[in-house]
Amino acid sequence: MKRVGVLGLQGAYAKHAAVLRRLEIQPVDVRRPSDLEKCEGLIIPGGESTTMTKLIQENDLYENLGEFAREKPLFGTCAGMILMATQVDDDRVRTLDLIDMTVDRNAYGRQVDSFVDELEVTADGETFAMRGVFIRAPRIAALGEGVEVLASIDDEPVLVRQGHHMAAAFHPELTNETRIHRYFSTLKREMSVA
Ligand code: GLN
Repeated sequence: MKRVGVLGLQGAYAKHAAVLRRLEIQPVDVRRPSDLEKCEGLIIPGGESTTMTKLIQENDLYENLGEFAREKPLFGTCAGMILMATQVDDDRVRTLDLIDMTVDRNAYGRQVDSFVDELEVTADGETFAMRGVFIRAPRIAALGEGVEVLASIDDEPVLVRQGHHMAAAFHPELTNETRIHRYFSTLKREMSVA
């Protein structure tokens, strides 16, 4: 991919854009349906999934995002991961139904809101260690059969892929790590076609 959108309605746009630039991918700030036309993939950043739901609705983006996702890869991080799910434990959130999983909001780190943990990521035959930054993170409570787990903490998945879509419970844009975004930039619709 040469141009990747980052949903810029709310939340952590700038850091994702910086990682993309390091990979020589041009970030596109996506706020309106027409912004999607320029993008080969889209990142939905962290933020607050209830607020994002409202803003996506207000900007008339649900249908366009759904259409875009049929052809192009989406990567949801943290609040973005919640929006990727088929089920969420909060009915104020309207999801995009892209990854077959049930997600509980704010369910990681009940004792502490935020934490950093060492992760082992396996993507595309390569395994590497990285730090995962979790901020009021969602937890994957159930996962469908077609979903591949790329990283876990204590047997709980925190990075997953289904077809050409990906989701992370943590914030890969907050560490000095580009490999997650690089892997995302290689996803293709063909991965979802049987
Ligand atoms: N707690 C937020 C939510 O439920 C997600 C937090 C984040 O994106 N850092 O939407």
